[in-house]
Amino acid sequence: MIVNSERTIALTCPACQGIQQHRFSLFSISQKSLQLTCDCGFSQGHLRRLNKHFELDVLSIEGDRARILLPRRQFFGMPLIHLLSPISGQGLGYLGDPASVEEIILTGPAELFLESNDFANPTVMRDILTTLEDLAARDKIRCECDHSSIGIDVYFDQVELVCAYCGSVVKIGASTRQHQERIARVDEIVMEPCTSLFLGEWLKPLT
Ligand SMILES: [Zn+2]
Ligand SMILES: [Zn+2]
Repeated sequence: MIVNSERTIALTCPACQGIQQHRFSLFSISQKSLQLTCDCGFSQGHLRRLNKHFELDVLSIEGDRARILLPRRQFFGMPLIHLLSPISGQGLGYLGDPASVEEIILTGPAELFLESNDFANPTVMRDILTTLEDLAARDKIRCECDHSSIGIDVYFDQVELVCAYCGSVVKIGASTRQHQERIARVDEIVMEPCTSLFLGEWLKPLT
């Protein structure tokens, strides 16, 4: 049996509120600690080997320090761990094999954000996230680069599909009825490698 040594830890960043993914190999972490720095420059904390455990020491979204000790066996064996702050019980992020983490990030937000008032138009946002979730579930969101690996970033009035491999981004407006109707007409989202586009621009050649 082949053990996949690649793992991803995805943490919500207290500075930019984005979900930052950090990919690493289990072998590298045995040797030196992994500094978890968000793309925005904020240092979220670190992950390191501590005897028979792995220690995760990070800042939660509220900026509280959370320290979690994960037994080695759990760390190696579980496909997906939902990381919770031992103090507040709030979700910090996910740890697991890259595909599982990717999937929960892509499909999770619809639930995670349902009760949030942080949106320009929560009804439209919810609808658009559900549509994207359906597309993802049917394998209809992908990037044309060599290692399509799509994550989703949710903002106040828009959603961004981001390819973790090549950095390609598709921005989708998510605040008006027009946005909602536009995405409802989409059958498939195929991202061009290494580009940043609005869904509207991207649709132009097709309509
Ligand atoms: Zn950040
Ligand atoms: Zn890509």
